[in-house]
Amino acid sequence: MSFRKELGVIPRAAWIIAGLCYVGMATLAWFLVPTDHEMSQWPRGGQLAFTFLLPLFFFLIIPLYGYIYGDSKRRAMRYVMWTLLAIFVPDLIGVIIYFILRDPLPVDCPSCHNPVPSKFTFCPHCGNALRPYCPQCGKSVERTWTNCGYCGTKLPS
Ligand SMILES: [Zn+2]
Ligand SMILES: [Zn+2]
Repeated sequence: MSFRKELGVIPRAAWIIAGLCYVGMATLAWFLVPTDHEMSQWPRGGQLAFTFLLPLFFFLIIPLYGYIYGDSKRRAMRYVMWTLLAIFVPDLIGVIIYFILRDPLPVDCPSCHNPVPSKFTFCPHCGNALRPYCPQCGKSVERTWTNCGYCGTKLPS
């Protein structure tokens, strides 16, 4: 899994919003810093750092939320809930929880080669069975089981 491919998960809209936020905040700071009573006393370098480096934080954090949105979507997780959780739980705790709890990456269906969330038993594109399943209820079963753990049907060996 290359870094470049991971970056492709981030929706383009997240980069655009991040860029607009950066330009907006830097512009705002450019005009407000010289008018602020205290900050106008700062050395020029400090003022420039405040104007151009501080908004950089937002330029990076918004694509991070975009990554969580795209990543949770491809993992067939509840992506709206996870994105909102990441944004609104303070101190990036939502982001950290996401990276701990996220589901495994999708697998490639051996039959049609579409990516399928790894928790699925059947490929939603072609119906190919991705793992052993119960012929009665269709839920996935372990190879060592003699009976289905969900409906109790005796499984073929
Ligand atoms: Zn398939
Ligand atoms: Zn069953």
